Amino acid sequence: MRKVSLNISTATEIRDDVGEAHGRNRDWRVAGSIILAIVAAVTLWLMGQPLWCKCGGWSLWSWDIWSSHNSQHLIDPYTASHVLHGVIFCGLLFWLPKSVSLNVRFLTAIVLEVGWEILENSPIIIERYRSATIATGYSGDSVINSVADIFACAIGYALAFRLRAAKSLIFFFATELIVLVWVRDCLILNVVMLVYPIEAIKVWQMAGL
Ligand SMILES: [Zn+2]
Repeated sequence: MRKVSLNISTATEIRDDVGEAHGRNRDWRVAGSIILAIVAAVTLWLMGQPLWCKCGGWSLWSWDIWSSHNSQHLIDPYTASHVLHGVIFCGLLFWLPKSVSLNVRFLTAIVLEVGWEILENSPIIIERYRSATIATGYSGDSVINSVADIFACAIGYALAFRLRAAKSLIFFFATELIVLVWVRDCLILNVVMLVYPIEAIKVWQMAGL
């Protein structure tokens, strides 16, 4: 009997240790994300991006992609694309060697997203968006919108990690389809139009105005 009870208490201790380690790892991921988001915010602010929408309204969202509030408030239809960035990063980073920890994978995804946010707000990409895509009045994101995009990517990563491959794929294409029907734009179209603009797609998108 004594042996059994000892084993049970050892098992409980091991479980507690594992739980504690999981908690610590999660803390690192949260802390790392916050630090990277702050680095992105400061960089974007120094690049001259506005902190918040010039309208000064405190609505947390803006659903009209054609309005000047787009990408200026906390969330908008393009937030979904950033969730999908996280899903894609989770899928790509899965192929790293098994020895690479979840923390390193996750924070690599956040670094990539921060890099994209900075690139997205660089003069060259802003100009590209204005000339090639439907975002003719685009002047970059507000700092707070960019920070929300980074956290959207983190949520996407965490979601894909739990959903695993098949359900993540379904989630990816379902989200793309919903956003496509909703605003006639989505992550795939956005990339296509940025890299290889197709006039017919632009005409169709503009018809939704
Ligand atoms: Zn506004």
